[in-house]
Amino acid sequence: MNDLDYSRASAEAAPTPIVIAPQPVLRQTARLVKPEDMKALQATLPGMFAAMYQAPGIGLAAPQVGISQRYVLVDLGEEEERQPMVLINPEILTESEVLTPREEGCLSLPNQYAEVVRPEAVRVRYTSVTGETCEREVDGLLATCIQHEIDHLDGILFVDHLSTLRRNMIMRRLAKEQKLKRH
Ligand SMILES: [Zn+2]
Repeated sequence: MNDLDYSRASAEAAPTPIVIAPQPVLRQTARLVKPEDMKALQATLPGMFAAMYQAPGIGLAAPQVGISQRYVLVDLGEEEERQPMVLINPEILTESEVLTPREEGCLSLPNQYAEVVRPEAVRVRYTSVTGETCEREVDGLLATCIQHEIDHLDGILFVDHLSTLRRNMIMRRLAKEQKLKRH
């Protein structure tokens, strides 16, 4: 099965619950995926795609569903034309000197958005879901999304790229909204 097959399988899967900040798993450094992890990893994909599409979001990292392993999903496509990608053990090889600000949000920080400055283009190496080593040059929104998701594997949230003042403001607002939601 390839990325598109797993994305399609999400139609039959229950969305995996998404972990909301400040859950500790979001702050851990995720471990590398080993060849013997692949089968179990593949089994998590339909539920993870379902959660990402339902949200809706354009990226989801394994720690966001409580799995501290280095893999992420992204899909910038529309419902009629999916463009799913699963990146296992992804690494940024090079980044452009050109930086771009872009508004970011995160499924683990619902309803919180802020402009984050990141390299406009990156070259990324990863293992595909079929076990191949891939290298891709990406730019624009896809580059932002992939950098945001790889950050999750190192316990970094988009608010960490902001000033302490701004970050604390967002985290306080999130905590308050989540508390209201629970009552
Ligand atoms: Zn995120």
